[in-house]
Amino acid sequence: MEGVRVFPLTCAVQNYSWGKVGLDSEVAKLVVGGDPLAVIEEGKPYAELWMGAHPKGDSQIKDNRIAQTTLGQWIAHFPACLGSKVKDSFQGQLPFLFKVLSVNTALSIQAHPNRELAAHLHSQFPEHYPDDNHKPEMAIALTHFQGLCGFRPVEEILGFLKAVPEFHALVGNEAAEELRRGVGDADRTKRALKKCFTRMMNCEKKVFVDQLNMLVKRVTEEGAAGKDTSSSNGELLLRLHSQYPGDIGCFSIYFLNHVVLDPNQAMFLGANEPHAYLYGDCIECMACSDNTVRAGLTPKYLDVNTLCEMLTYDPAPSAAKMFPAVPDHSDPCVSVYDPPVPDFTVMRIQVPAAMKQYTVAAVDSASVLLVIAGDATATSAAALSDVTLRRGTVLFVSANESLLLHVTSAAGVTMFRACCLL
Ligand SMILES: [Zn+2]
Repeated sequence: MEGVRVFPLTCAVQNYSWGKVGLDSEVAKLVVGGDPLAVIEEGKPYAELWMGAHPKGDSQIKDNRIAQTTLGQWIAHFPACLGSKVKDSFQGQLPFLFKVLSVNTALSIQAHPNRELAAHLHSQFPEHYPDDNHKPEMAIALTHFQGLCGFRPVEEILGFLKAVPEFHALVGNEAAEELRRGVGDADRTKRALKKCFTRMMNCEKKVFVDQLNMLVKRVTEEGAAGKDTSSSNGELLLRLHSQYPGDIGCFSIYFLNHVVLDPNQAMFLGANEPHAYLYGDCIECMACSDNTVRAGLTPKYLDVNTLCEMLTYDPAPSAAKMFPAVPDHSDPCVSVYDPPVPDFTVMRIQVPAAMKQYTVAAVDSASVLLVIAGDATATSAAALSDVTLRRGTVLFVSANESLLLHVTSAAGVTMFRACCLL
């Protein structure tokens, strides 16, 4: 390959209504950082930044020496940029989509299908399931980040069934009793949990809205009287109810773990794992797909039956949902988040203040590099001229190309890099 093989991108912003607003949004801050001329509208949500070649948000190439307009077009012309293994394994497509999310109000209770189910859903309901790919995803917190993820340990769910009669009413005596009797038997527990969750999700609207109103009233009164409402998960309940009044998803907090990530902590969401993001900013990486099965906390299309059928009913504590980064033995600046799927790996690159030169190593995969903090000038044989890196810069790096950074900021540089290590 000849010509420019490392270049900056201008990335698509998605203004979904749940996003943080104006310059409160990390997405908006990164956009202005990368392009000081970008206009951020006060009052408008900046929910997601898409860095990649997905047709719904193909990144624009910011290098006027390149004839193609978008990254997707360029990769179609020069598939060798992917690296030979990636090119062959993923039919000449960039296998991942890299994102920044800024979450102000909860996103839907959702799960992503495995490849087999994705293909089935896409063939049956293409209007709701736009492609046939799986969508494992990983979230790495940039700020204090909250989500719901995976089923709680059964003891916790049983505790809520006892303490929250409104929740118990939706699950029903029979299913709740089965869950109680199944304790200690993993298979029975799984079946009972599925039954409990499915019963609740299939309640008649009138029934669950009444129960939810009663619950909200009770918790509000208890709170006003100075009582501790944690046995009803009161604070989170009231918050979700204020965002999605009358939504069945408000009850999901009794089934699902409330996961809180500190910056740089991550969670990985494999196929069929129930989850919802609640608040905060994160880096997200996923297989290049847009397939989501939703069942609450959203005005979007709901597919309760598919969701209840597909979920993994594996109770586990919230700590088990954390996905650890491992140090890269060949480079002390790099921490690697390597999930158990082939489609993507994310690296956090932290160049310390004392280090004035740093080499972003070549890997046998195309990469997308996002600068979170710091300033540097990048030199690369494949860029033909120097590239300025600052907060918000997004760089596409072809396979087997390295970059030499001359760090100009006093506090070092922090970057995230997505690639596909086969
Ligand atoms: Zn998701």
